[in-house]
Amino acid sequence: YTSNNGAKKEERKLMENLNLFYTQQLDRHLTAKSYLNQRGIAESSIEKFEIGYAPSSFATLDFLSKHAYTMSESMEYGVAGIGENNQPYARFIERVTFPIYTPTGRLVGFGGRTLSNHPAKYVNSPQTKHFNKSQLLYGYHLAKESIFKQKKIIITEGYLDVIMLHQAGFKEAVATLGTALTHEHLPLITRGDPEVIVAYDGDEAGINAALKASILLSQHALRGGVVLFAGGMDPADMVQKGLFDALNHLFRKPQPFIEFALERMIKKYNLKDPLLKQHALEEAMSYLKTLPQAVQESYTGLLSEKL
Ligand code: ATP
Ligand code: MN
Ligand code: MN
Ligand code: MN
Repeated sequence: YTSNNGAKKEERKLMENLNLFYTQQLDRHLTAKSYLNQRGIAESSIEKFEIGYAPSSFATLDFLSKHAYTMSESMEYGVAGIGENNQPYARFIERVTFPIYTPTGRLVGFGGRTLSNHPAKYVNSPQTKHFNKSQLLYGYHLAKESIFKQKKIIITEGYLDVIMLHQAGFKEAVATLGTALTHEHLPLITRGDPEVIVAYDGDEAGINAALKASILLSQHALRGGVVLFAGGMDPADMVQKGLFDALNHLFRKPQPFIEFALERMIKKYNLKDPLLKQHALEEAMSYLKTLPQAVQESYTGLLSEKL
């Protein structure tokens, strides 16, 4: 591929070659390697998830041009851009890289984590015609076999959560790509009709996101529930701390979506105040009304008990 005359883009495999470059760079950057080590990521996980390292902008652009990829091709895939004063730049600079695949194994994007305290902890590929982040789940192509076999899918917030859960043997773990869970994810989540476990971060943001996810998933009659980790931990933290028993226990008995949603809605209000108690009741009732009649009836008891 020293020239691009006539070669089809499919044959030129820009993303695959770039991913190979990143994975090779990891071995040459000991700070990146030792960062992964510190995070508790095993060598086998580095290989399985093809974790790499994006070096300087210059080195990446040099790689792309040596392989005769044009700027417009690189921009089409969102891996480079042209800045002010017409200077090209690489999107991923001095970051650990996580390749993102479609369910059928097409490489369509990357996530990149800073090693230092760069204000943007993560940079992700932009939305392109190849990469629709609102429909994809990170790790799905590696998880799908287990998802179908176990009839279970574990949805997390981040790359590291997926990698660490797989490492601990929970191979049904996937993650949204820095976006909220929406109806656009449902076609993928419902494949094989698995039980759905929402395993977000145990911080306030994670709990609020889990409430929204529970409302959405219950309205689509999906089986499953939410697990919450103590002390604001996320699944990656749980694995790194070796809390396997707790993980097993939690994943075996997630709190059902409707129960979790009702409980969290009510918790926002001070129920000692009759007026606020009325607000809590109204919010819970208007949610229940979006569910089938029989379901509504079976939860009114729980609701009155909690209020
Ligand atoms: P780490 O353990 O390395 O800190 P994390 O996955 O726990 O990573 P969170 O802050 O919990 O990081 O964020 C969850 C996910 O949200 C990330 O994996 C990433 O996909 C996305 N994300 C976080 N910060 C950003 C950002 N600044 N820009 C874009 N996406 C982000
Ligand atoms: Mn978080
Ligand atoms: Mn997290
Ligand atoms: Mn984390």
